[in-house]
Amino acid sequence: MNPRSLAFRLAAWYALLLSATFAVVGFGTFYGLGQYLRAGLRDSVERRSQQIEQYLQQTAPDVSDATIGEAITTRLAPEDNNRYVRVTRASGQLVYHSGLPADRSFDPADIAPLPQPWPAGRAARAVTSASGDLLITSVPIAAPSGRYLVELGYSLQPLESAERRLLELLAVLLPVLVVFATGGGYLLVQWALRPVDQMSDTARQISIQDLEARLPVVPTGDALQRLSISLNHMLARLRDSVQTSRRFLADASHELRTPLTIVKGELQEIVSREQCSPELAERVGSVLEEVARLESLVSSLLMLSRLDTGDAQREWVEVNLTELASGTAEQMRLIAEDRGVLLQPGELAPVTVRGDRSRLKQVIVNLLDNAIKFTPKGGTVSVHTRLYDGHGILEVRDSGIGIPDSALPHIFDRFYRVDEARSREDGGAGLGLAIVRSICSAHGADIEVDVQRAPEHGSCFRVRFPVSSRGG
Ligand code: ADP
Repeated sequence: MNPRSLAFRLAAWYALLLSATFAVVGFGTFYGLGQYLRAGLRDSVERRSQQIEQYLQQTAPDVSDATIGEAITTRLAPEDNNRYVRVTRASGQLVYHSGLPADRSFDPADIAPLPQPWPAGRAARAVTSASGDLLITSVPIAAPSGRYLVELGYSLQPLESAERRLLELLAVLLPVLVVFATGGGYLLVQWALRPVDQMSDTARQISIQDLEARLPVVPTGDALQRLSISLNHMLARLRDSVQTSRRFLADASHELRTPLTIVKGELQEIVSREQCSPELAERVGSVLEEVARLESLVSSLLMLSRLDTGDAQREWVEVNLTELASGTAEQMRLIAEDRGVLLQPGELAPVTVRGDRSRLKQVIVNLLDNAIKFTPKGGTVSVHTRLYDGHGILEVRDSGIGIPDSALPHIFDRFYRVDEARSREDGGAGLGLAIVRSICSAHGADIEVDVQRAPEHGSCFRVRFPVSSRGG
């Protein structure tokens, strides 16, 4: 779980707010229920007390304490009903005092008499005694038989134990609820962010070669939908601008070909004239060399622009890569020999791939051409094909000067040369490997440089093709 992720932070805030809400609701419930139960108890106590008050009002002036006690016992049965009753005359003389309740929730002997002067009207008080807490109402009565203080109370124990149970329930239930709600919230946030994941997955797959792909539009009608639509509009604009620049490259290289051919023809015609002096012929010859370099540059650019527009996919056939590699190596053997390099076929296991034969040949030619160019006299260049791990492998190894580590990430970039001065001498413009990579990606193949496999600190270029049939 990533603590900086949006899902985590939202879930954390959600948990915090939820805990605060539950805490307020829990406290409110606990406090509200306590107040409600106390009010109900007070009501009940008062109603019972009124029964005694009414009785005392109706007594004869000479009523005895025993008669009063009997009447209370008959009407309220305090012990059986777990109630506390005490009736005291104004003189302080005790008229009636209830006994130990059936549930033993309090001991009447622990409840101290209310000191004089008594309150003028009805009053309620909570009494804490050693045996248990009580809610007692007291009311002074002026009856025909004299003045009395009537006290009636209920034990607070059932109410307190109800409160305690609620507190225990809340203490267990609220954390469990918070944990479940937070987990659920986290999953919900992740579920809500799924469209964003899908968008980023699609965005990752969109390459400059495939600008027709679009992000999935989530029909949420909110910022997410607006974002996916805006990004798709941006992709459309990007595609338009890439297409414009590709068209420009294709048009420019195409337009340059004709004048170059004319210049070349004119120059060749000058050199072939009889009256052309050797000095002029030499100068025209060096211009012709530059023209040839320009021609090769223009045709490389044209090929790249065609590859960019997906041209390579049109003429695909089953190609015997092994035959193509050994045939091309054979054709280039003489060029290698001229430079004092031994070009030899290596391990050539049968491999067949699907693709454009001439483009695949271009890959082998460019790789062999580089290997020969960058291998000093006496060195070796070899070409290999094999099947490995469900792929058709083509390898061109040389014992040449090698490629420095710092250059490895860039050698497939357009116009990149490790050592400009050295490469220019050989006529390279830094487009050979860019063409190789474009052809490879058009064929679903990937290319890499494996320094470990190269003989004597040279280079090893490996192309991994998806094979059409095992063993060809
Ligand atoms: P160029 O057409 O100039 O050779 P490439 O795109 O074919 O351009 O190669 C880019 C650079 O990679 C070259 O300038 C060269 O320095 C380096 N390079 C390519 N192949 C090899 C190799 N087999 N050995 C050493 N360096 C190489």
